[in-house]
Amino acid sequence: MALSIKSLLESWDGLGVVMRFDPPTGTWIFIALHNDTLGRPTGGTRIKVYQSAAAGLRDAMRLAEGMTHKWAAIDVGYGGGKAVLAIPRRLKRAEREGLLRRYGRLLTSLHGSFATGMDLGTTTEDMLIIGEETEYVHGVDREKRRAVDPGPFTARGVFASVRATLRRVFGSDQMAGRVIHVQGVGDVGAPLARMLNSAGAKLILTDLETRRAEQLADELGNAETFEPHTAYQVPCDIYAPCAVGGTLNAETIPSLKCRIVCGSANNQLDEPEDAVRLHTRGILYAPDFVVNAGGAAAFALIGQGESDPDRIGARVDKIGESLDTILDDARTSNQSPVVAARELVRRRIGLDGT
Ligand code: NAD
Repeated sequence: MALSIKSLLESWDGLGVVMRFDPPTGTWIFIALHNDTLGRPTGGTRIKVYQSAAAGLRDAMRLAEGMTHKWAAIDVGYGGGKAVLAIPRRLKRAEREGLLRRYGRLLTSLHGSFATGMDLGTTTEDMLIIGEETEYVHGVDREKRRAVDPGPFTARGVFASVRATLRRVFGSDQMAGRVIHVQGVGDVGAPLARMLNSAGAKLILTDLETRRAEQLADELGNAETFEPHTAYQVPCDIYAPCAVGGTLNAETIPSLKCRIVCGSANNQLDEPEDAVRLHTRGILYAPDFVVNAGGAAAFALIGQGESDPDRIGARVDKIGESLDTILDDARTSNQSPVVAARELVRRRIGLDGT
C-alpha cells in the first residue's frame, strides 16, 4: 500500500505531529510527539533525503516511539519525540543555515512541547545554529557557543552493552580473540571501534563511504574492511549496526553469521517478527533502544548540571546493568530480549511497544 501522510497519522498511537513545509528549501519538517508520561517529549533531529514526504513522516514516528522506549528503559524522566527534516536534496550551506534557523524558531513557538539534540545527518555546528534561535536544544552551551557531541557517550553505552552480551553468550566479557563487525564508522561507530580495539577485539569495519572504513582500519591496525554490500555474510562474534535502521529483516537475518547483534543504530528491526527470527536462529539481539541510550543518559545528567566526566561516564556504563536485567528476564521467559525490554517499558509507563 502506498504511504500517505493521512493514513500514517490515522494509524499512529502517538500524541500528534507538528508539520511544516519550508518553501525556501522544499523541506518537510515533522516533529513527532509520541508519549509524555515520563516528561517532555525529547529526541534528536534527523536531516535526510527521503523518497517521499510520507517516508520522512514514517521515520519520525518510528524514531519518536523508539525514544519513548529508550527513556523508559533507562529510567530517565523524558517522553518520546523525534524530528525529521526531510530535505529534497543536499542543501547549500546558506540554505541549510536558513532552514535550521526557521526550525529553531518553530521549536521556540512550541514553548517546550519538544526539545531536541543531534541525530543522523545533523552536526554539533547545526545544533549551535538551532541553539541561537531556541533554548529547547540539548547539549548546547548557548553562552559559550559550544556543543557537546553525544557520539562518544553513545559509543560508551554500546561498549558496556557489548560486554553484557559477551558475558551472556560466552560466559566472559574478555574481548581478546573476539571478532566484532562495526557497520558504519561515523560519530558512534568510530569511537566504539577505538574502544573495542583498545580492549583487544579484532574488528571488521564496513561503511557506505569505504574510504572512511579504510582510514580507520589503517589507524587501528587489528582491523579489516569489507565492501558494504557483503556486510551481512561476514563471519563474526558480534555484529554492531551503527549506521541506519532496518538492517535486520527477513532477507538479512538468514545470512547473518554472528552470535550477537549489539549496536547503536535506531530501529534495527525492520518489523517486530525480526526479533523472533533472530531468537529462533539463536542470535542474541540486544534491543537498540537500550544499547544506544548512552548519549541520552549523559545529556540528561548534563542538563541537570552534572559536569564531572567520571560520574557521567559511570551513569552511561550502567546501561550494561540495565541490559543484564533485560537479558535475565529474557532467559527466564525464554523470549527475545526485545519482548523482555518491552515488558520493562510497560511496567514503567503502562505502554506496550510495537
Ligand atoms: P553518522 O552519520 O555520524 O555515521 C553513520 C555512518 O554510517 C556514516 O559513516 C555513513 O557513511 C555510514 N552509513 C550510512 N548508511 C550505511 C549503510 N547502509 N551501510 C554502511 N554504512 C552506512 O551517524 P551516528 O551519529 O554515528 O549514528 C549512527 C546510528 O546510531 C544512527 O542510526 C543513529 O540514529 C544512531 N544513534 C546515534 C546516536 C548518537 O549519539 N550519535 C545516539 C543514538 C542512536
